[in-house]
Amino acid sequence: MAAPRFLATRMAASRFLATTFRRRQRQPYKKSRSFTSTSAPRADFTHAVIGGGAVGLAIARRLQSHGPSVSTVLIERHRHVGTETSSRNSEVIHAGLYYGHGTLKTRLCLHGRRMLYALCDARRIPHSNCGKWIVAQDDAQMAELEKLHAVARELDVPTRFLAPDEARRREPDVRAARGVLESPTTGIVDSHAYMAFLQGDFEDRGGDCALGAAVTDVEAVDGGRGGYRIWTRTEGHLADDEPITAETVVNSAGLAAAEVQNMILPAHRHRELYYAKGSYFSYAAAHPKPTTLVYPAPTPGHGGLGTHLTIDMAGRVRFGPDVEWTDDPTDVKVNASRLAAALDDIQTYLPGLQRDAVDLDYCGIRPKLGRQSSVVGGRNFIDFHIVKEEGFEGFVNLLGIESPGLTSSLAIGEYVHGLLYK
Ligand SMILES: Cc1cc2nc3c(=O)[nH]c(=O)nc-3n(C[C@H](O)[C@H](O)[C@H](O)COP(=O)(O)OP(=O)(O)OC[C@H]3O[C@@H](n4cnc5c(N)ncnc54)[C@H](O)[C@@H]3O)c2cc1C
Repeated sequence: MAAPRFLATRMAASRFLATTFRRRQRQPYKKSRSFTSTSAPRADFTHAVIGGGAVGLAIARRLQSHGPSVSTVLIERHRHVGTETSSRNSEVIHAGLYYGHGTLKTRLCLHGRRMLYALCDARRIPHSNCGKWIVAQDDAQMAELEKLHAVARELDVPTRFLAPDEARRREPDVRAARGVLESPTTGIVDSHAYMAFLQGDFEDRGGDCALGAAVTDVEAVDGGRGGYRIWTRTEGHLADDEPITAETVVNSAGLAAAEVQNMILPAHRHRELYYAKGSYFSYAAAHPKPTTLVYPAPTPGHGGLGTHLTIDMAGRVRFGPDVEWTDDPTDVKVNASRLAAALDDIQTYLPGLQRDAVDLDYCGIRPKLGRQSSVVGGRNFIDFHIVKEEGFEGFVNLLGIESPGLTSSLAIGEYVHGLLYK
């Protein structure tokens, strides 16, 4: 005889936990939602966060910190967290210069940067407030630097132009024919150590990680007022697991976020993402090797920030990312044909580059809401989409979480918590 529906769901949740979770002692479930009076009674979890990248981890940790009565599950399709975009980026803590006034990207980047430095200091997560240079080679690029400087002043983000002799003394190998704008609050972080901390802290607070479990379908029961039923498929299995239930769902699925939101929202609200691949190049030479991050002046309308020079926490120099549109979000093989163009770009600011010491490294893919600009000033700048979707109680949807998503992650966690609990 089939188990009663409620019991079947609880049994399914137990099997799900047993097979895919690192299960911790949890408080017995109590109805706790304070944000609506018509909540789903006795769901398996208060919150389900789909996607275990830096952003999903930060959101899950923040939701789980709400109080002892909350139960949060983080569902990640791979066996480890943070193996997609969150480990395929520049690991730069952005100052917040590029995204203009009144945008979510600026607000969350500024707040997220402060939170990230404070957390890294407090919890000894490897990071460095190393600063960065943005360099101009001609008048048009200098005009872009002037614009950045003006915006930075209005946002209260420190920037300053360097005198040519100071620039030459500090980084003699860097060419900046027209000028250098320095951003002293920019830095770098070990993104893997950061995510390992977030996961451990989330679990220490009683959160559950379901790893190797891909979400295959989500049903909003009574428009979300009755909670959400979530189907997953464990890695290597041919059929779905029994569904679990959650009072709220947060879609933080990165490159697959449109697929996940399309499982929930009706057809006329379906969306698609565009994928801007960015390749990185390693550098094996001991000289020239600047000690500052170096970015070219931003090009309005460009899908990224230009092929820049960054340094990781181990002191390794890498160049990238460039921009190459692809239809395949799994296309993470560096395209060798990109190397020659990248070398030419790099040599505009590092003329002594040893070209034969540059090699293909790795690439990451930006999940974008359009083939448009990443920086304000370009046509049709696109902001982060982080909203509680209308008509779907308790569903928070994150789309287009490209750069500066890593920098903003802790602030995004606060923001999502605010959307659910305010
Ligand atoms: C080339 C590049 C350079 C960048 N440089 C910087 C930088 O220097 N500084 C900065 O602040 N930001 C940078 N970013 C942006 C930053 O990396 C991202 O904004 C951030 O990592 C996004 O994190 P996320 O958690 O949203 O996405 P992801 O890391 O992609 O995580 C999403 C997770 O969802 C999981 N998932 C997807 N579908 C499902 C499903 N159906 N079921 C279960 N799990 C699912 C995936 O497996 C994945 O682990 C860069 C991005 C790129 C591409």
